[in-house]
Amino acid sequence: MKIVILGPPGSGKGTYASRISERLGIPHISTGDLLREEIRNQTETGKRIESIMNKGDLVPDEVVISILKNRISKDDCSNGFILDGFPRTIEQAKKLEEITSIDVVIFLDVPDWVIIKRLTSRRVCEKCGAIYNLLTNPPKQEELCDKCRGRLVQREDDKEEVIRERLKIYKEKTELIIRYYKDKGLLKTVEWKKEDIPEEEQDMPLSLMLEKIMSLLNA
Ligand code: AMP
Repeated sequence: MKIVILGPPGSGKGTYASRISERLGIPHISTGDLLREEIRNQTETGKRIESIMNKGDLVPDEVVISILKNRISKDDCSNGFILDGFPRTIEQAKKLEEITSIDVVIFLDVPDWVIIKRLTSRRVCEKCGAIYNLLTNPPKQEELCDKCRGRLVQREDDKEEVIRERLKIYKEKTELIIRYYKDKGLLKTVEWKKEDIPEEEQDMPLSLMLEKIMSLLNA
């Protein structure tokens, strides 16, 4: 099965994608990871895209598509794959169709307030960079890193105003892609509904959302 997963930043998209990958035995392909690997290996492409990625801008289509095309031609993709971080634009969605056919597009419809709550709860250690979440992965002692006793701080881009801005940009771009796949009859929406989710899982309803996704995939 060839799957695309779409969802806002902070929706847990990467986590769901890797769980689905384990369950179905198909690779989880994140274009962000593939591009970071090029930079780590200091390939020609890696050198070209480093400054673009550092600014948080989109890497040119021809670069991402060529890397992706190469990745999905590998043997482990013969039974399918789950794509995370691609497509980011309509042009990419159209190009994707030229290189392969997608069976289903999962859209994680998570409300803004959940994302804001989750991301504003993230803390990072000033000293060693360890990441915590006050809701889902709290440190043993408030404001102190378990590993090195460094001070825990909130990153600039985890502040509420910045998150709201990121969500605005995400929506402008993704709404078009969602419509595109809806019109093709490929879209399956997984709704995050407060009333469905047990109290202890309100901050990260991993198992419930995962089961919803698996049943939509009939797997
Ligand atoms: P991510 O790990 O998905 O947040 O992606 C990290 C960065 O990789 C993005 O900010 C972009 O610079 C780049 N990137 C990942 N996927 C794409 C894509 N489909 N098109 C263009 N750039 C991408």
